[in-house]
Amino acid sequence: MRTAVPRLLRRSVRCSSSLSFLQQPKAAAAPAAPRALQRIQFRSLSSTARLRSSENDPEQQLQQRQWSTPLAKQLAEAISATGPVPLASFMRMCLTSDVGGYYTGAITESEGRDQFGLKGDFVTSPEISQIFGELIGIWFVTEWLAQGRQSKGVELIEVGPGRGTLMDDMLRTIQNFPAMANAIDAIYMVEASPSLRMTQKNLLCGTDAPMTESKVGYHSVCKYGGLPIVWTETIKSIPPSPEKMPFIVAHEFFDALPIHAFQCVDVPPSSSPNNPSPSAAPSTSTSATPSDSTKTTGPTLQWRELLVSPTPPGSTHESLHTPASQSRDTPAPDFQLTLAQAPTRHSLYLPESSARYRSIKKQVGDGALIEICPDAALYATDFASRIGGSPQFPKAKPSGAALILDYGPGDGTVPTNSLRGIRRHRRVSPFAEPGLTDLSADVDFAGIAEAACRASEGIEIHGPVDQGTFLEVMGIRERAQQLIQAASTTTTTTTKEGTTAAEVVEKAWQRLVDKSPNGMGKVYKALAILPENDGRRRPVGFGGDVVA
Ligand code: SAH
Repeated sequence: MRTAVPRLLRRSVRCSSSLSFLQQPKAAAAPAAPRALQRIQFRSLSSTARLRSSENDPEQQLQQRQWSTPLAKQLAEAISATGPVPLASFMRMCLTSDVGGYYTGAITESEGRDQFGLKGDFVTSPEISQIFGELIGIWFVTEWLAQGRQSKGVELIEVGPGRGTLMDDMLRTIQNFPAMANAIDAIYMVEASPSLRMTQKNLLCGTDAPMTESKVGYHSVCKYGGLPIVWTETIKSIPPSPEKMPFIVAHEFFDALPIHAFQCVDVPPSSSPNNPSPSAAPSTSTSATPSDSTKTTGPTLQWRELLVSPTPPGSTHESLHTPASQSRDTPAPDFQLTLAQAPTRHSLYLPESSARYRSIKKQVGDGALIEICPDAALYATDFASRIGGSPQFPKAKPSGAALILDYGPGDGTVPTNSLRGIRRHRRVSPFAEPGLTDLSADVDFAGIAEAACRASEGIEIHGPVDQGTFLEVMGIRERAQQLIQAASTTTTTTTKEGTTAAEVVEKAWQRLVDKSPNGMGKVYKALAILPENDGRRRPVGFGGDVVA
């Protein structure tokens, strides 16, 4: 695995009095742009806000202040009680909180729409073209063939299934391979959003199909082959079973998982406390390991966590220096990032947990920024144990596969400064209108690979490879030709804009494989977790051939 240092991190940055994500403006995002392409390269975090001491009566200010959403008020109240919170806690609340999280109520209830498509905030590959899901279905068929065509015990698991379109396209395709279709025992959908769960049920089971609740989750019966479908809120609720062959897909799921952000700072010896400060300590934490900053004479390098705190009352986009590249159509951000003045339990533990992070501290030093996603490691650990077995759940014969498609560095570098807010296809501040703003961050593919390999000796990793290469090898061009042919012979339908159905298919597949620097074929990557086979067989799309 490579541990190259990101280009951005080579520049040294320093703390000063106010913080903003400074960005280099690029062309405005086109309508219905995928989330990854909303990314505008960040400059390094050049300055950080000092936590303001409370002014006059903070409690009164909190109550009187106009917060942009009910969730913003709730977050501010929580922060006034606990002190600034880790970015991961903020993201988790914004995305999946019961009180108006982005995926758990705010969007559908207040706006009568969902997150996807032209009316929504962003568009994803399965929503762009049916071929995407079809080829992923085929990929799992090739794995099933290569792994001995097991006649039962196959499980299809999707994490973060959105509208259910990807699973629908996969299942329709797998029906063309009856022996595999008959081997499927159950389908599991890991979904945090109650309304998207219902959308998925309607698509995969029909609007009339009943949904029942059990201790595990929600159940219904799929229109394809009458297969049972189970919805759970986390992957942990899916019972592990060593006889099963799990086929797991995660598309644009990992980018929605909460991240912690850290900055490396040079601490003068007199003020280099090594104990987490209670005020900065996060409420949920893992046990700390001592950092290497004690008993030294010169300045020492320490990781410090970037925490979220409210912006000063009366802040404006101007006073907060909201970057020009971010739309200012939103109210001024309610929150901002602040650099913890002392180590937190997370800052002592997480950045010391991998040689990749430690080498950044050594090579880049003061000013280095990194993002770490512990939830991504948990999911990778789970996928790997299901496929390859683990000390806790031994598996006699590793089987199954996981395919992770998302955006993030494909060269082993650690993501940095990648948090973004998206609203109605435009970049906005990630701290504006919490709950109404989609938040996402680059995926650390190397971190996922590392966690998976650590969890199970029975797996191996392939990729990441560019989405464009993956889809082309899987046959996107050929499948598009079939659809174009069918569209031109069977229909003369044109869209309002006068585009023919064939042209729509053509444009869609070209978009998915576009390998220009900001093209989806380049920005999105695919990574596979397979049963360990000493590297003797590569999966299709990752340099291997179909094994029948
Ligand atoms: N895979 C889909 C949707 C991507 S959006 C597509 O490509 O179109 C992210 C999805 O993950 C949504 O379905 C969202 O509700 C779900 N999600 C986000 N955070 C989650 C979490 N912590 N646990 C479970 N599901 C989550």
